[in-house]
Amino acid sequence: MKLEASGDCRDTEKMPFPSEVTIGLKSDGTIFGWNNTAETIFGYPAIEAVGQNISILFTKKNFQKECEFRNKILEGNTEHYELPCKTKSGKSVFISFCSFPIKDKTGIIIGISKIAYDISDQKEAEERQAILAAIVDSSDDAIIGKNLNGIITSWNPGATNLFGYTKEEAVGQPISLIIPKDCLVEEELIIENLRKGEKIEHFETVRMAKDGSEKFISLTVSPIKNRVGEVIGASKIARDISYRDNDDEKKAILASIVSSSDDAIISKTLKGIITSWNESAHRMFGYTEQEAIGQHISLIIPKERLGEETRIIESVTKGQKIDHFETVRVAKDGTERYISLTVSPIKNSRGKIVGASKVARDISLRIEAEKQRNLYTERLQDLNKYKDDFMVMASHELKTPLTVIMANLQILHEMMEKDENSIFVKKAVKQVDKLSELIGNLLDVSKIQAGKLALKPVRFDLNVLLLDVINNFQQGTKTHQIVYKSSNKKIMITADRERMEQVVINIISNAIKYSRKAGEITVDVYKKDQEIIVSVKDEGIGIPQKDIENIFLRFYRVSGSASSFSGSGVGLYITSEIIKSHGGKIWAESKMGMGSVFHFSLPTAK
Ligand code: ADP
Repeated sequence: MKLEASGDCRDTEKMPFPSEVTIGLKSDGTIFGWNNTAETIFGYPAIEAVGQNISILFTKKNFQKECEFRNKILEGNTEHYELPCKTKSGKSVFISFCSFPIKDKTGIIIGISKIAYDISDQKEAEERQAILAAIVDSSDDAIIGKNLNGIITSWNPGATNLFGYTKEEAVGQPISLIIPKDCLVEEELIIENLRKGEKIEHFETVRMAKDGSEKFISLTVSPIKNRVGEVIGASKIARDISYRDNDDEKKAILASIVSSSDDAIISKTLKGIITSWNESAHRMFGYTEQEAIGQHISLIIPKERLGEETRIIESVTKGQKIDHFETVRVAKDGTERYISLTVSPIKNSRGKIVGASKVARDISLRIEAEKQRNLYTERLQDLNKYKDDFMVMASHELKTPLTVIMANLQILHEMMEKDENSIFVKKAVKQVDKLSELIGNLLDVSKIQAGKLALKPVRFDLNVLLLDVINNFQQGTKTHQIVYKSSNKKIMITADRERMEQVVINIISNAIKYSRKAGEITVDVYKKDQEIIVSVKDEGIGIPQKDIENIFLRFYRVSGSASSFSGSGVGLYITSEIIKSHGGKIWAESKMGMGSVFHFSLPTAK
């Protein structure tokens, strides 16, 4: 039977086909024709292939596709398609098929003729191309192609990101689109190099984005050659290095801060060798940068403090910072410098500690001021001591003649009892009384200040003491009524009786003094928990709230209307010191114009 092919896939102009595969198939796919090229490509010799089904060349999935094409061909069509096939050894090859029907003389389709080519290399190249395109597309660098006339031929998304032009806006435009005017000459040089086939690597320059902003870039330009090696264009890879310039800027700022700082900033290795020394370090320690760098830090450490350096290095090596450590360093001229030191570890880019930075603040002025202050305080204490000693001495010395004066005045008063001039002696007695009270108070203040207020504790009934004092006062006043309230018959305490009397007298005399009009004074004594509390309530002028905390201070007197009463401002101070020295507390409550209540507590006698 003579078979006739009904079509031919060969393009006669592209002849010859050195590796053309020809395969003849029956309608059911049985191979009946198999040329040498088929043998070479698929590995089956004709003797093996003929009689087999074409399915031997395909995987299951691809055979299904082959069958689909076969059905169309058997319907009279010519089909061009590409399918992966497998060789006898299992290797994969990519085949381009042109399959058409074989008809008998009567025109009935009785088989299929296949002309095929191995296009594996071309497919691989295409794949490589696709990978390259994907790399170019995904690169952060701007990758631009241009021809030798400087016309942009390709433009990746990185270029869009960097320069702002889209691919559509850039391709076809001259590359000068992104070159600032003053850099245009660079382009000529680049083209010149390219023509010679030379590559330009990491050329740092400036380009201009669509918005007019300048971009600092590192440029690598490589020639693009055609198959025969002629340079036909260039590929440009531009890397944005603006951030690096920022880094440089930051470094420059830091450097200027260090050099202009008022603190001495020094860095050293872990072995203590000075590696940097700023202007303030020069000012503070006298050594110039040239003199200090390379020297051991002990250059400025006094011998007796060398141990500090060991401890500092130990901490820094562990990554610990030393904050505001006050110490002494020595300058070139031998003078001492008081400094506050902050030492931090220096790490390299891999995080390893390689040294230490020291920031030294000159605190000489502060230390000097502290010394002066201490000296002043010491002098003040001395002066106070002299003053206290003088007060004790003076009060003592005044007391004796005053007692004599008083005794004589009293004799005189008795002698002149019926004399009309006895009024003058009475006046003198009153003033000497005041004077001796004042001297007594000043003597007490001095003793308290000197910590010499000696107590003579005895056990006694507080009720009795209070009643005595109240009776005395009541006899001396017609204007004020003193009411006494006690919840217990006996209130035994252990205290200095005389001092306690002094306390009660002070408080009741104030209650009378600071009540202009006649009024009632209530003295109340009761036990509460582990304490005995005595309260003295008056109906006097009251004490402003802002003063109430201060009335127990030495020489404190309330200003305003209260200042019209004579007094020295030491009574409540002495009172509160006596109470405190007995382990008690004293406090006051008051309402202006309504009166005040003074309370003091004493621990119950054991
Ligand atoms: P002074 O000698 O001035 O009375 P004190 O130390 O005894 O000194 O009292 C201090 C101040 O407290 C007085 O100047 C007075 O203003 C105020 N003060 C004390 N007791 C009373 C009181 N019962 N009523 C109003 N003010 C008082």
